Amino acid sequence: MLEQYEETTCPTMKLRGGYNIRLAGRPAGQICALTEPDVLLLPQRTRRLRFNKLLVKNGQSVRCGQALAVASGQFDLPLLSPMSGVVRLRVHRGHIQLDSLSAGPPQVPVSGDSPYGGQRQSLIDLGAWPYLFDAFDDSVPDPARPATAAIVATTRLEPFAGPRGDVLLNGSLDAFLRGLESLASLVEGSVYVAIPRTRSQLGMQLREQLVGRARIEAIDIPLRYPMDHFNVLARALGLGPRRGGGKGSTVWGVRTEGVLAIDQALHAHQPLLDRVVAVGGSAVREPIHVRSPLGYPIETLLAGRVSSEPRRVIDGGILNGETVGEQQLGVGAESGGLTVLLEPTRRELWGFVRTGLDRISYSNCFLSLLRPRYVERLTTALRGEHRPCIGCGFCEELCPAGIMPHLIHKLAYQDALEEIDRCAAHKCVGCGLCSYVCPAKLDLRREILDANEAIRRDLHATAATETEEVVG
Ligand code: SF4
Ligand code: SF4
Repeated sequence: MLEQYEETTCPTMKLRGGYNIRLAGRPAGQICALTEPDVLLLPQRTRRLRFNKLLVKNGQSVRCGQALAVASGQFDLPLLSPMSGVVRLRVHRGHIQLDSLSAGPPQVPVSGDSPYGGQRQSLIDLGAWPYLFDAFDDSVPDPARPATAAIVATTRLEPFAGPRGDVLLNGSLDAFLRGLESLASLVEGSVYVAIPRTRSQLGMQLREQLVGRARIEAIDIPLRYPMDHFNVLARALGLGPRRGGGKGSTVWGVRTEGVLAIDQALHAHQPLLDRVVAVGGSAVREPIHVRSPLGYPIETLLAGRVSSEPRRVIDGGILNGETVGEQQLGVGAESGGLTVLLEPTRRELWGFVRTGLDRISYSNCFLSLLRPRYVERLTTALRGEHRPCIGCGFCEELCPAGIMPHLIHKLAYQDALEEIDRCAAHKCVGCGLCSYVCPAKLDLRREILDANEAIRRDLHATAATETEEVVG
């Protein structure tokens, strides 16, 4: 979360692997306002949510804060209207367009009796629930299920994946501390606040403020990606995943913006109608943070801020984000970062014999090693072709889950699912670090996620059926 820090090992947890990824295009510290939009384009689909049940009709006037749609089958989480305006349906596929916009005091939705309890229902009604994650599979937690603990990540270690904690906390420390108290009242056990060891004033202030609070505990993390990953932290804290998949309690993961969202909903009783979005990457002229209403058109947001050269826009960070296309025209209900990378159109001539003065790699095999410490200007170029695994072992060395991606890669070629299962591939947290550092440019993360999916589908489902037949 903070500018200055020192590498550290956490005294209370065993964390392994990880890598400090330093790339050019880091968003600056202040949060800028945007110009008033002419239209808003609200995506009905985000990474985890499908707002598939419309509550409004074409041409209908709506008020700021009114629910436009709900995610049916996902606890009816609402998509709230960020401004007053007129609904236009079927203009852009998968989006609700709002025009004739006007600001005004938001309508505060209130549900009646709730099966989830008053506070949880308020988080749902006011749009704060999507800020919560199941720490083990990143899904939206079930509000009916108790939470044994919560992990708060105050730092963002994947480049450009979302707003930085220090930027959000600047001037909002009191609201953050209040949000932590509210979070503690929602879980049965402790709230663990992950803070990189730092000498900065804000870091020390936060640590001091947490001392003596009941069920809220600060934990140290090294500044290496993905040490802010909820799954990595939950396992290191000894908070095992729930057994049996469906029932039981869960562990929540929350980021800084999530704690502030909880405070806004439960303390100020105001709906969450905007997002702080980090805009970074090699194609951004002035990397910034912006406060954006939901649905703000991405093209308008980037206009004048990014290079006119061919570029790729990614919703999220460089390792786990998704390329923005026709399916996402506006800032979504889960957007936190927009990464914009230059997309080279020409092949790099004789790239394989060039010295790589502008490249950083974990292997330190480029001439850039001789330059003073600097950050790399990452593009979307593959820089050379895919090659067979060269057995360097970097993927295994850096994997935070302690598994052997290179071995799983070889077994995946042979469709050897049982062997992959025995290699504990299920421990993969999907951080993508193995793919990032692999000098052979193998997409190890994708291979392992696909193998895990095949294991669940083909191996475990078959085993369950056979057990049922024997029992039956
Ligand atoms: S194997 Fe999984 S957990 Fe390990 S580095 Fe690769 S993506 Fe991350
Ligand atoms: S990083 Fe790539 S090349 Fe190196 S051992 Fe792993 S899979 Fe092989």
